[in-house]
Amino acid sequence: AFLIMSLNTQKSKELFERSRGLMIEGGSSSSRGPVNYGAYPLFMQRGQGSRIYDVDGNSYIDWLMSYGALPLGHAHPRVVEALCQAAASGSHFATATDIEIEVAEMIQRIVPSAERVRFANTGTEATMAAVRLARGYTGKPKFIKFEGHYHGWYDDYLVSSNPQPLTTLGHRNDPIKIPDSSGLNRHALDDTIVVPWNDLGALERAIDTYRGQIAAILSEGIMANMGIIPPAEGYLQGLQELARKHNILFILDETVTGFRIAAGGCQQYYQLQPDITTFGKALGAGLPVAGIVGRAEVMEALSWGGVLHYGTQNASRIGLHAARASLQVLTEDDGAAFHQIWRIADLLCNGLRELFKELGVAAIVQNVGPMLQILFTERPAISDYREYCQYVDRPRYQRFIWELFKHGVYTTPSATLHSIVSLAHSEQDVEITLAAARKVLAHGTN
Ligand code: PMP
Repeated sequence: AFLIMSLNTQKSKELFERSRGLMIEGGSSSSRGPVNYGAYPLFMQRGQGSRIYDVDGNSYIDWLMSYGALPLGHAHPRVVEALCQAAASGSHFATATDIEIEVAEMIQRIVPSAERVRFANTGTEATMAAVRLARGYTGKPKFIKFEGHYHGWYDDYLVSSNPQPLTTLGHRNDPIKIPDSSGLNRHALDDTIVVPWNDLGALERAIDTYRGQIAAILSEGIMANMGIIPPAEGYLQGLQELARKHNILFILDETVTGFRIAAGGCQQYYQLQPDITTFGKALGAGLPVAGIVGRAEVMEALSWGGVLHYGTQNASRIGLHAARASLQVLTEDDGAAFHQIWRIADLLCNGLRELFKELGVAAIVQNVGPMLQILFTERPAISDYREYCQYVDRPRYQRFIWELFKHGVYTTPSATLHSIVSLAHSEQDVEITLAAARKVLAHGTN
């Protein structure tokens, strides 16, 4: 790609040289390495509000926001204060604590389906526990997982999560299960039923085929790991009804939508009553706090002697103090925080749409409030995984984002992930971002 503006990233380069022989791909997750960042990733050092700073002193407007773990932006003063206070009185006890009760009560107030709450550390863990809970409670072996949904890196649902050539997927009535990793338990996927999302007919067919054997339907509320693909009108309600009718538990994975789309997540926004819900990311305001919540009768199966769920770090004391501060900010003043977040998100999404139109760029923006993704495609909309696989130009997105870095705008270079608007983002951040996008696109780097 041709360099519009030079960016000095010498220190990042040197750090990568140092880390690559030490850590795999220079870091702690493949998504932070060369597959997304090319020659070397930018090493980040400091975050403040909507800004993130790299080791060379470059500053960026950060629309990545730790993949959604920072709904208030970086180093929000209320969160920082809570963290300092908690740390000074002991980081973790691994005993019963009152902060757990307080945060659980807050969640119960915010999320009506949360009759019971159990804390864990990551979205992966929470969803893993939810699947085991559903199997344990119902005594049934199978569960439904949708094409293009991602729930973390546990074996049983690490399937058909990545974009693939259309010809490898099989017929949509009977998708070929494509494992996303080597080394999975060789029977892990035997009881995982893969179904296309946003298609009630396909779901009904699968339920019929495996009648009496299905413990749960596991779904994201907004497809957020294949760009952003919103649910079709009435789809999630239809899914919930089918689950009820056939005595199947509805597990809603709100790892990425919880405390983000609305205080009460997707289930508030789309008015759902899932049996089990999993939370992660935004809950801990940057610290690893996750939650499994749901209907009392189901959740009680996690009791001693039933379905096992342990964890030394569960209910991180420091993390829960951060969670309390963050949930307070997100819910006070009659939802002012979400009003502001949605307003900025609208400005950003509409600004990008107008820009693409004006410059004649074949790209669309799909979003639900503060979760958005730019899709380089000739299509007017992308409504499911297969359309995404067929019509979205992912390399072009990556080149576009790499160029944006040079103009002080940071977000995920992965076309399957998405950008995030936080409470810290301002109108000025949107203006700077749109100006940067205009420069990159006008120079025809793609
Ligand atoms: N579920 C969804 C919907 C996710 O987007 C993610 C992470 N991107 C996870 C689960 C896994 O969460 P974690 O990375 O905290 O394990």
